[in-house]
Amino acid sequence: MANKRQTGRPKDKQRHESSHRWSHGDPLFQQLVAMACGFLTEGNPPKLIQSLMQKRLKELRIDIEITREDPYRFIAYAASQKQLRFIPPSDFTLTEQLKAKYPILQSVKVVGSNAMDDIAYHGAAAVKDLLRIHYAVKSKSKVRIGFGGGYSSRRLSRALAELLQQVEDVPSTIVFHALAGGFDLDDVNAHADSTNPNSFWSYFVDNPGHRFESQFMGLSAPGLVTWEEAKYLRQLRGIKEVFDKREEVEIIVSSAGHWGEGHTQYMRYEKAAPKFNRALVAAECVGDVLWHPVTRKKMPGNPALVPMTLFTLDEVSERIRNNARVLLVIGPCGFCGESKNSILRAILDDGSRKLVTDLVVDARCALEILKG
Ligand SMILES: [Zn+2]
Repeated sequence: MANKRQTGRPKDKQRHESSHRWSHGDPLFQQLVAMACGFLTEGNPPKLIQSLMQKRLKELRIDIEITREDPYRFIAYAASQKQLRFIPPSDFTLTEQLKAKYPILQSVKVVGSNAMDDIAYHGAAAVKDLLRIHYAVKSKSKVRIGFGGGYSSRRLSRALAELLQQVEDVPSTIVFHALAGGFDLDDVNAHADSTNPNSFWSYFVDNPGHRFESQFMGLSAPGLVTWEEAKYLRQLRGIKEVFDKREEVEIIVSSAGHWGEGHTQYMRYEKAAPKFNRALVAAECVGDVLWHPVTRKKMPGNPALVPMTLFTLDEVSERIRNNARVLLVIGPCGFCGESKNSILRAILDDGSRKLVTDLVVDARCALEILKG
């Protein structure tokens, strides 16, 4: 039987027998997708959505037949187009317990999910809150925000670009700083660019839904360099200007890598810099923040290499003393799925310096921190 559907004309009787009876570009199809998803978000199961849609279409005088499978198709289509958003829950009890244990933290959010995207979403929401504070409480028209690298920071940047759509109550100019250069040693790594904070800019450039002006200050430098190279690089045109502005960075966003083969970029330096690596092992390295190793013991003085980043960890602590906010977003390791409780504990229990003011963390890690 020929397809007699005539799009958008309410009184046409439309019957479809082909499994591909909907054309995705069809305006009526889009309306049906919206209708199905609307009923879904009201909490109706797909089984019931069929009859609810049929009833609504009758009211709208659109005479088409919704089959049992259609609601599933509409919902699956919306999901494939990233039109459906799942808002992951936060765990109120664990959040309150963690706040009580670490009163030095200005905000805490424990996410009731282990998925990296869910944790990145809450991280992005926390950044949005910080931007709003800078706008509403501190009356800032311009704010500088620095991003560390890594896969989870990239996902957070993407989620943030979405969350800031049509948002008015943030500073009118946001300057995005890359806090590190490229840390990948080889270009055979298919994801080489995806961990480099210099590439996160792409989510914000010419984004038509943003009501603020985006500016960007990258850091074009290798990730790990010798002390002499670092000194030289910091004087170079294009790098010096970025370092001159770093005292104005008021929000720092970072994740943390836990120590282990393949779990932190550092381990990939084993071949390139075995001495440096041995020093980290000897100092009982538990992971890294902003590419700087966090160790249980003191690192032997002046290790041969230094990460080329906008701030050392002592300088991050100094920024906090000058009222900057440092958001740490911790989820399970993207490689092995293990909790990053050892690195988080080392950061939170560091009595000599404060490295974090705001924390977003997965529930499993929070539980382990609370137990320990
Ligand atoms: Zn791991």
